[in-house]
Amino acid sequence: MLYDMKCVHCQSALEPEQMRCASCGTKQKARRKRHTEFDTETLTPEAQVLLERANQQYHWAIWGLIPGVGLILGPWVCWNLLHLRGKAEAESFASFLLTTFRIALMIALFQWSGLLLILLSCWMT
Ligand SMILES: [Zn+2]
Repeated sequence: MLYDMKCVHCQSALEPEQMRCASCGTKQKARRKRHTEFDTETLTPEAQVLLERANQQYHWAIWGLIPGVGLILGPWVCWNLLHLRGKAEAESFASFLLTTFRIALMIALFQWSGLLLILLSCWMT
């Protein structure tokens, strides 16, 4: 379980989308921007480590935008994300991983095909 949600009043377990506690009826705090932002207070320590690793991969992917650097970083980030993927239970987290994976994959494909085209044009002339 990525989300460790509890009622503020009676501490019984809650579903992530539940606005009102089923056992005591206490209204719960509204969830903010659930697709892009994670409420780190409600994440389990294990999930926080995962999130930190995912953020690191995202930053590596951005560095990969530098021509040449992405030749190594692109495939490397893809590889790392494939290993993180199995542990992503929350939907918002999984979609964040997928977005980062797509960026890294694009970088890898564009830079490798670019390099191959350069090599090919050298070989042809
Ligand atoms: Zn309650």
